[in-house]
Amino acid sequence: MPLHITDKFDSGNIIVKAATDPSDIRLDIRRDHGSDFYQWFHFRVTGARDQDMVIRIENAGGAAYQEGWPGYKACASYDRETWFRVDTEFEDGVLTIRHAPELDTVWYAYFAPYSMEQHQDLIASAQQCDGVRLEVLGETLDGQAIDCLHVGVSASNKRDIWVTARQHPGETMAEWWMEGFIERLLDEADPASRTLREKAALHIVPNMNPDGSRRGHLRTNAKGTNLNREWDKASLEASPEVFHFLAAVKETGVDLHLDVHGDEALPYNFIAGGEGAPNFDPKGQEMLDGYKTALARISPDFQTKFGYDVDKPGTADLSICTNYMANQFGCLAMTLEMPFKDNADLPDDMFGWSPERCRKLGAANVDAMLAMVDRLR
Ligand SMILES: [Zn+2]
Repeated sequence: MPLHITDKFDSGNIIVKAATDPSDIRLDIRRDHGSDFYQWFHFRVTGARDQDMVIRIENAGGAAYQEGWPGYKACASYDRETWFRVDTEFEDGVLTIRHAPELDTVWYAYFAPYSMEQHQDLIASAQQCDGVRLEVLGETLDGQAIDCLHVGVSASNKRDIWVTARQHPGETMAEWWMEGFIERLLDEADPASRTLREKAALHIVPNMNPDGSRRGHLRTNAKGTNLNREWDKASLEASPEVFHFLAAVKETGVDLHLDVHGDEALPYNFIAGGEGAPNFDPKGQEMLDGYKTALARISPDFQTKFGYDVDKPGTADLSICTNYMANQFGCLAMTLEMPFKDNADLPDDMFGWSPERCRKLGAANVDAMLAMVDRLR
């Protein structure tokens, strides 16, 4: 049976250089359109059942985050539902995957993919629930909808909580997180969710970058813009996703904004705050510390020891979402980072950091929000 490799599907990304001999497959990762970023890969291989495949991604050494490769295991699946991990080696700039597939076709990806078709299913399911409205905030450059789920209605006696994910489209763990968060939030039998919904209106954008997601990008939108460097200069031309989002936020106001991401290098879940924003104050610190402490208490998958260095006061880059939101609105603004690799505190050899664990962390954030909702500014 001849070998066949393709990325011609939603969120696919690979360039095939050699694919005749299963023991000598040579590939490159395609750059995000209009940019130099690349690291997300997603492709399928057919015709190597029971053979010892050696797949070399030859341009891995030029990818955006070199620290992402050491200790990394690739994701693989036979049914596109269960994504197990496969060992890799990173040497001389080449990422090598060795695997003997048990079936004819196997899919490989940087992390368990979350396609735009799955996104449609997510919002279709959510809009069935009482009290949920689905609004299109605007269109992307490729003409896709920027979907926002409103859970409850803003009111003077309620807080406004905004939650976003996948500004960086290759960080698919962020939308798996959204599945768990939304499912829990909309569970009428869940007392924490019901109470949170009494105290706050929630506005949720499960995918901030539909174009990058469908195109199989790591980090940018259709024209190569990194959305998380656009917040102080969002425009319809370069970053309509952020532009439309900010217009919607200005209508309701915002007391808490959580922006969900994935980190290539660090094998931990952590939160980065807006400490370096000029307007960040002791109340901002108290809210940030409160949220992190609450979430760590609720979920052992979350920790506060490892994370990014904290910006010195007044030095934050305001083009980044969390810094901009903290500065502009004085709200509790946070970036939640999950690993591509695994949580080193609770490692899982077979699955690593997985969709199911993302969902559970998403669900746990309902409790953290409830713990903090009366303490927001
Ligand atoms: Zn990110």
